[in-house]
Formats: sequence, C-alpha cells, structure tokens
Amino acid sequence: MKKKILVVEDSKLVHRMYDLMLRPHEIVHCYDGQEALQTLTNHADAQLILLDLNMPRMSGLEFLAHIKQDPVFSKIPVVIVSTEGKEEDTQRGLDAGAAAYIAKPFQREDIVDVIRQLT
Ligand SMILES: [Mg+2]
Repeated sequence: MKKKILVVEDSKLVHRMYDLMLRPHEIVHCYDGQEALQTLTNHADAQLILLDLNMPRMSGLEFLAHIKQDPVFSKIPVVIVSTEGKEEDTQRGLDAGAAAYIAKPFQREDIVDVIRQLT
C-alpha cells in the first residue's frame, strides 16, 4: 500500500536514493528541519518521517524536539538516518522519541523493513 513519507535530509544525492528505493510510496522532500516543520502543516497525514541529523538551519535533533511537543505531529513515527560515528546524537534522538535508527550508508531493505514495521 502506498504510504506518504516525509524525508528530512540536506543531501540531494540521498534524496535521489530515496526516490529510487521508496517507489511507489509518496515522498515529501524537505532539506532542513525548519522547512520540514513548515511542510508538515500541509502534510500532517504523513505516515513516517526519515530524519537526517546533521543539517543547516535546524538540525534533526531540534526538529525532533519541536514535533514531540505537538499533539498531532508527535504521533508520526520518526526514523533517524545518520552516519556512523554519531552514536551519541543518535542515542539522544532515540531518548527524545525517535522510533528507530538506520545507519548510513543504508540498503533498500533497511528502509523497506522499517516502513513495514512502523506504518
Ligand atoms: Mg546531513
């Protein structure tokens, strides 16, 4: 079944990978946390958020803190997708309410599995 997935990620290359890997799901593309907060108001029906941590303007951790205070957005499962060597930030993200963590570089099955489990 087709799901709506919000991708919050500053790398255009990673966005293209998601385009290829997540077909036929609907992807809403955001390039930093600030943009994602604004975009979510029009896409509150998103079923999953794939969240990078290291981004300009507003980081993934800041974005997560914002949405976890919101009664509607806080119900959307968040998956942190971040590079290894950032374990401390990842743990903070999980403590802040992220549902799962995927390490970069990721495989298509990692993403497909997490979508199946959480949506
Ligand atoms: Mg990044």
